[in-house]
Amino acid sequence: MKFSNRVQQVSPSVTLALSAKAKSLQKKGLDVKNLTAGEPNFNTPKHIKQAAIAAIEAGNSDFYTPALGIKELREAIAKVTNEQYKTNYTFDNVAVTVGGKFALFAIAQAIFDLDDEILIPLPYWVSYSEQVKLAGAKPVFVSPKEGQLKVNVAELEAKRTAKTRAVIINSPQNPSGAIYSRQELEAIGNWAVENNIWLIADDMYNKLVYNGNSFVSLFELSEKIRKQTILVNGFSKTYSMTGWRVGYVLANKELIAKLSAVVGHATGNLAAVSQYAALAALNSDQSCVEEMRQAYEQRLNEIYPLLNEIPGFTLHTKPEGAFYLFPDIRQALAKTGFADTTSFADALLEEEYVAVVPGEAFGMPGYIRLSYAASLSDLREAMVRLKRFVEKHS
Ligand code: PLP
Repeated sequence: MKFSNRVQQVSPSVTLALSAKAKSLQKKGLDVKNLTAGEPNFNTPKHIKQAAIAAIEAGNSDFYTPALGIKELREAIAKVTNEQYKTNYTFDNVAVTVGGKFALFAIAQAIFDLDDEILIPLPYWVSYSEQVKLAGAKPVFVSPKEGQLKVNVAELEAKRTAKTRAVIINSPQNPSGAIYSRQELEAIGNWAVENNIWLIADDMYNKLVYNGNSFVSLFELSEKIRKQTILVNGFSKTYSMTGWRVGYVLANKELIAKLSAVVGHATGNLAAVSQYAALAALNSDQSCVEEMRQAYEQRLNEIYPLLNEIPGFTLHTKPEGAFYLFPDIRQALAKTGFADTTSFADALLEEEYVAVVPGEAFGMPGYIRLSYAASLSDLREAMVRLKRFVEKHS
């Protein structure tokens, strides 16, 4: 069978595959500690679900909605953004999409041309590179300095060519939990403006920030930088709503109109019931967000020192946001003799039933990602097993 050249270049999601493997072992009755999850382990708050049920009962979810979403939700997203970043957007600056994932996919379809080069700082979220390739463009990876997890302008500039079209900045970052500071973002933003390069800001984890660290968005810097920025966010992580698939884009109206065409032909619209659920999430009390944030913070603070104690594991900085830890385990690999993090992760799952994602999936071999979107008791037990595993093989 002949497949398209585009799809032949695309690899399936490693994180989804690993998570599926861990879940299938769990189904067999094995006590697997699954730290691969890229999703919160909380149910969607009850009041959001109730609003969705009410929308179904009122018949609001029975029909197509406009491609870019119901106006009330687009307005509510614009309002929240304006309050947060002191901007002046209206509903026609907003596109509601099937998750942040499809928001990014639609942006790629709308602005990337064949052979455009898209700068992707390492480590990166697995889907960026594959979406770039599906749009016919070329991912260009930008490595930070040894032992660092964020890139700077000099590193971006070294990879810039006449074909560079965009750079994708994810902060707080999946997989490392690092947050770009205001100064770092300003430097990158001004560089992008000078060189007429789109800034795609993936702010998906902006509400999950810990221990007094603060998040700054490219959207709240200068007017010039904001004009150059396409903001992506969603409800999956903030409101524990991964199953509802609500994402959105904020950008200039011209781009939003183009996204309407992409979305209209690709997904039609996000399921109406999910849109009403998202509307309720924005319009109701936000204490659920803070409660979940505090739970992640507690887990991070407890697990971080335990992970640091594992022989050969180095955390270059304490994660500041999102819900992942991304230790450098190169010394542990040297001690244990595993050839790479993929074989380390495979053996860890088989011998100790602990599932983690090898750094290869994020363009950084030698590291592994552990998600703390898991219960504290599972996390504690996973740390015991991980330590035992490294000691046994050393
Ligand atoms: N961006 C990042 C960095 C993510 O980690 C994820 C989900 O894992 C997404 C975007 C997309 O999330 P969703 O499609 O659930 O909105």
